[in-house]
Amino acid sequence: MLEDDRPIHICPKCGYIVLALKGECGICELERDKLILTNYTCKIYTEMDKEQKREWEEMLRKRYVLCPDNPYYNKEAWDRREDIEFQTQLQMDNWEKKRNEEAAQSQSHQLICPRCGSTSFSPLRRKWSLLTGFMTNKVDMVCNHCGHVVKK
Ligand SMILES: [Zn+2]
Ligand SMILES: [Zn+2]
Repeated sequence: MLEDDRPIHICPKCGYIVLALKGECGICELERDKLILTNYTCKIYTEMDKEQKREWEEMLRKRYVLCPDNPYYNKEAWDRREDIEFQTQLQMDNWEKKRNEEAAQSQSHQLICPRCGSTSFSPLRRKWSLLTGFMTNKVDMVCNHCGHVVKK
């Protein structure tokens, strides 16, 4: 959806990064002709992970909004934008967590114990891999009936 060459604008008043072609900042309603054109396009979003995106946004805001010769910067609008983005992020994180839990649950229902035929399992996090010597986030399943461990 975002894999295109639409230019990315930034709002000099609140620091909102504008992707849509709505013609204004979606947060503080500053018109498009006041928005600053960055030298990035929406394609950059497909190339960044969460942490990189955070750093990139910080860099853009430092460069275009928090620079001393920007006459539009407005602390109130900036704070409001931060509140909105924080809440959006929170909702997205919760949604992701729920999806992961549902996926783990449906996965554990499909398992059948090779020893006793039970389909009831509990996840067991494998903390340390003997093979690589590194921490892993792999999860084994333990049969609730006979204790047989099904390795993933
Ligand atoms: Zn704005
Ligand atoms: Zn079993």
